[in-house]
Amino acid sequence: MPALVRRATGADVDVDVLGHRSWTPGLALVADRFADRRVFLAGDAAHLFTPTGGFGMNTGVDDVANLSWKLAARLAGWGGPDLLASYECERRPVAERNTAAARRLNMNLGKLRLGPLLEQSTLPGRRERERVGGLLSMYGEQFASIGVQLGARYDGSPVIAADSDPPPDSPAAYVPTSVPGGRAPHAWRRGKRDRGDSLFDLLGPGFTLLRLGTRPAAVTGMTAAAERAGVPLTVLELPAAHIRDMYERDLVLIRPDQYVAWRGNRSPDDPAALLAKVTGK
Ligand SMILES: Cc1cc2nc3c(=O)[nH]c(=O)nc-3n(C[C@H](O)[C@H](O)[C@H](O)COP(=O)(O)OP(=O)(O)OC[C@H]3O[C@@H](n4cnc5c(N)ncnc54)[C@H](O)[C@@H]3O)c2cc1C
Repeated sequence: MPALVRRATGADVDVDVLGHRSWTPGLALVADRFADRRVFLAGDAAHLFTPTGGFGMNTGVDDVANLSWKLAARLAGWGGPDLLASYECERRPVAERNTAAARRLNMNLGKLRLGPLLEQSTLPGRRERERVGGLLSMYGEQFASIGVQLGARYDGSPVIAADSDPPPDSPAAYVPTSVPGGRAPHAWRRGKRDRGDSLFDLLGPGFTLLRLGTRPAAVTGMTAAAERAGVPLTVLELPAAHIRDMYERDLVLIRPDQYVAWRGNRSPDDPAALLAKVTGK
């Protein structure tokens, strides 16, 4: 290791080895359960990745984004008794999905044969670099794994009001969509040319109800129901056409973890029932 560090820095630097231990790459472990009564697992305690792809921390941060608002809702009293059970039901399938993606990548990279030619300043060395570069450029998931990072979905969750089929799951592609159960798509409030505020900076700390387009339906039924149930709800007016086009609906309900819980073109017939569903009552 000291020799490797010196070669990489190109200098005769001092290297102190403070400790070492064996480490096994290629793991794709997911805990059988993420919750047991008052105990919840998140991060590497719940799923252990091979680092290929760099998905471990991302997945852990998403776990706690999912869990923390549910804990807060229960403590504040507006979260229902089924809310915390939705944590495992939403996050465990994502852990399976993401660890499998990392393992696939690891196996693909493991198949690459790298010899000493690769670092030689010769014509055969250059040809070898071109060969390896060509192979690496096909590993889209490793270097452009946006679908793994942003495309995780909670379809089938009891606290999501599903309405239509989501786009196909792809590790290398992310399709912004407001189909409930996915990450709320990002948008600049005033469009690409005049970036201004990001939609994400405008969301409230609790649920946010987007009113999109120039003539969205009234939402007084929803706000009154939220007030009665004690659910924190911010109403956000965004008339810009590009946001309405991307979201495909006039009204969109976004959870505190920035996932879409419900969407529609008019207020739900029974706003109290909708809020009860998405808060696990
Ligand atoms: C080589 C490598 C490269 C990686 N690269 C990436 C990357 O590019 N992108 C990415 O997203 N992820 C990456 N990861 C994964 C990422 O580092 C982990 O997923 C992330 O650190 C997990 O965070 P965590 O808080 O769940 O667990 P940890 O970071 O393991 O934190 C757990 C903490 O708990 C402490 N602890 C343990 N037992 C006790 C105890 N009994 N009492 C008190 N404290 C305790 C530990 O000391 C530790 O500080 C990589 C991992 C490795 C090994």
